[in-house]
Formats: sequence, C-alpha cells, structure tokens
Amino acid sequence: MIETQKLSKYYGNLAALVDLDLKIEQGDIFGFIGPNGAGKTTTMRILATLLEPTRGRAFIDGLDVMRTGKEVRRRVGYMPDFMGVYDDLKVFEYLEFFAAAFNIERKKRKAIVEGVLELTDLQGKRTAAVDSLSRGMQQRLGLARVLIHDPKVLILDEPASGLDPRARIEIRELLRELKRMGKTIMISSHILSELEEICDHVGIIEHGKMVFSGTMDEIRRQMGIQSKMRVRVAGDRDRAFEVLSSLPQIKEVRPEDGYLAVTYAEGHEIDGTIARTLVQAGLDVIALEPEQLKLDNAFLQLTKGIVH
Ligand code: ATP
Repeated sequence: MIETQKLSKYYGNLAALVDLDLKIEQGDIFGFIGPNGAGKTTTMRILATLLEPTRGRAFIDGLDVMRTGKEVRRRVGYMPDFMGVYDDLKVFEYLEFFAAAFNIERKKRKAIVEGVLELTDLQGKRTAAVDSLSRGMQQRLGLARVLIHDPKVLILDEPASGLDPRARIEIRELLRELKRMGKTIMISSHILSELEEICDHVGIIEHGKMVFSGTMDEIRRQMGIQSKMRVRVAGDRDRAFEVLSSLPQIKEVRPEDGYLAVTYAEGHEIDGTIARTLVQAGLDVIALEPEQLKLDNAFLQLTKGIVH
C-alpha cells in the first residue's frame, strides 16, 4: 500500500534521506522509528506529496506520489508533528473547515464531522475552542481531521509525543480501532517501546538510512537483544558459577549483589535449564528472576555507532 524505491532527499549537501526502500502492506501498522533529524518527517512529507524527493520513487496504493498527487492526496491522511494555532476556532468549526477544504458537500459535512468526533471520543468538546484542548485531545482532534475524507492510508508524524501515559493509551486504542477499520497506518516516533505493542512492522532509520526493518520479534533478534536472569543459590556460589558458565546457551555469568547475573541470547527458554542444572549439581535454587534488558537501551546501543 505504501512503497518507496531508493528514495533520497538532499538539502544542499545534507543527505536527509538516502536510498530508502520501504514496503508497507495494506492493513498494517508500521512504526517508523528514529532519533531527531533521522529523516522521518522528510519521508512522510514526500509520501504526503508535500515535498519533492531529490531521487527515487514513492507509491501509495500503486500511484506515483510525484505524478498523481491529487489522487494520492485523496487516499492519504497526513498528520504533521505540529498542529498550528487556531485562535478562537471551535472544534466543530475546525473540522467543518477541513471538510469544506476536501470538497465534501455541505449537507454531508455535519454527519461526517459527528462521525469523526465520535470515533475520536471528542463529542463532548464539540463547541470547545481548539486552543483550549489538552495536548492529548488536540492529538485526537488532529486524527479526527485526517479522517474527514475517509483516507485508506494514515501517515502520522509523532502523534504520541508529549502525551501523558493515559493519553498515549487512548491514542493507541484509537489506532487499533482504525486498523480494524482497514486503514494502513504509518506512524513515527523516536521511542521504539512506545510503538512496540501496536506495530505489525517496524523500520528504524538513522541519518537518512534504514538500519533495520522487520517485525518486532525480528527486530529483537536482529538487535541481538539479550536477556538476563538473576539467580540466587544456597551454599557454594563458586560451584554454581562454574556449573552455569559451562552451559552453552549462556553468554556470561557475573556475581552481582549476592546473586549471579546470567546473560543469555533472546529466544532461549533458559529458566528450566538453569534450575535443573543447579539442582543436579546439588545446589538449592532460592531465586530465579528474569530481567529483560530494556528494548530502548538496546536500540540506543545499537544505533550509536552503526552508521558513523
Ligand atoms: P524529528 O524527530 O526531529 O522530527 P526527523 O527524523 O523527522 O526528526 P527530518 O525532519 O526529516 O528528521 O530531518 C532530516 C534532516 O534534514 C535533519 O538533519 C534536518 O535538520 C534536515 N532538514 C529538514 N528540513 C530541512 C530544510 N527545510 N532545510 C534544510 N535541512 C532540513
């Protein structure tokens, strides 16, 4: 539904985007992750027909975004990272304005505006001033706005940034609902864990280049995310150290505050093996506590040095 082929954008000498190949299937939620300045907004603006690439091609629903801008815009709802200021404009006026901008017939506008207000749970704010809304509500209003012309594809630039946890959950629920409605959704964030629960696929971009892409599981595997288990035994800790170190699945054993910290590669069912091995060696296991290394830390470690 969304595809780019060697998409590149230069601002003078600055390579904002370099040979980006992207494929997002219909009905997917695709998380586009990268630190500030990585090239997320540049990509999204090109897909929304607001920016011309220097090189490469981009397609939405099989249509070339550079050649068939009008048809593409009908299919895309683009929500920028900043909404702008709307002095004295009420919520329903704001939405009716966009309905008019999309050439929706006057007599149909009211019903459509009511529909998107209901979907985004903003009916109670119909007559509130846009500027008086909380950040979470403003983000929901931003989503209501991009849904006005019932686009197949949603391109959302950091919709969850600056939201408190509750508002973030509300946005997540709304995105799930939109997926159920059959929308294809591309959503950016600079925090991987923020999107981990809702995305079917994730792409990680750094300095204009895609450094990883795949499902969350694939990302975890590709990143070589390791898991850690804290083990406490009664009795001879040196013997436990020796026994655990000899297991092939285990990468490292280290004493840590009276525990043994055991690091192993993600994907191994390790707790049973550890317990069994220790018991067979005549050691009593007092505690066995799994601790997954934070995904975001792994992401930071990984992207730090990968392209420099
Ligand atoms: P953020 O999370 O901060 O929004 P981003 O991943 O969306 O970052 P982009 O906004 O696409 O990143 O920017 C990519 C690079 O291009 C950055 O180095 C940025 O400074 C640069 N850039 C973006 N727009 C322009 C412009 N109009 N003129 C010159 N440089 C630009």
